Amino acid sequence: MPHRLVFATRNEGKVAELRELLADLAIDVTSLAELEARAGAQRVPEVDEDGETFADNAVKKARQVSRATGLPALADDSGLEVDALGGAPGVISARYAGAGATDEENNEKLLAALAGVPPGDRRARFRSVVALADETGPLAGDVITASGTCEGQITGSPQGEGGFGYDPLFFVPELGATFGELGVGSKKERSHRARAIRALAPELIAYFQLANAGSSK
Ligand code: IMP
Repeated sequence: MPHRLVFATRNEGKVAELRELLADLAIDVTSLAELEARAGAQRVPEVDEDGETFADNAVKKARQVSRATGLPALADDSGLEVDALGGAPGVISARYAGAGATDEENNEKLLAALAGVPPGDRRARFRSVVALADETGPLAGDVITASGTCEGQITGSPQGEGGFGYDPLFFVPELGATFGELGVGSKKERSHRARAIRALAPELIAYFQLANAGSSK
């Protein structure tokens, strides 16, 4: 029985990463874009990410997308926390420079906010909370969550073309490079999302065993 779930995001950078991460667990990821491209499919409504924490938003996205699609849904809510900025941009990382801001605009705003802050005081971390919901399946309204972080520091200018979001500004000392220079391959081991998915893996596997046992009766 195949293991399949829908990933509750419209961020193609995240979709690419999640596919790599879940391939190891033999789980197929369908993106919202793929689901909506199917004949007769309806558009999945946008989720208002108005929670105060990453966990609030991840749970909300997973539940709403599972309800709208009738499928198990995995969501990630993630962002960058910069110590010198009191943890900003945090939950508003995607829209730091305003609603609909591009990655470049968010990166420019971050560099401006940190102008004059010396390298030793530019500590930051990415944080990810992942949530699995299956509103019509064996979880019956329960949501499973896990989280992961990755420590680094913010560079003085963008470095590297790979990845997405703040990747070109996020330098990981133990790797000696930014995520933008490393791309998806190295992020697979180290990233906040990789760590969150690894923490969720035992429960994901248990969930699919339960779901497949139920559907084969
Ligand atoms: P979300 O869709 O609300 O979870 O937005 C997450 C935002 O945080 C993204 O749009 C990026 O700006 C940032 N972000 C999260 N994870 C990463 C990452 O792995 N690399 C770079 N930026 C990230």
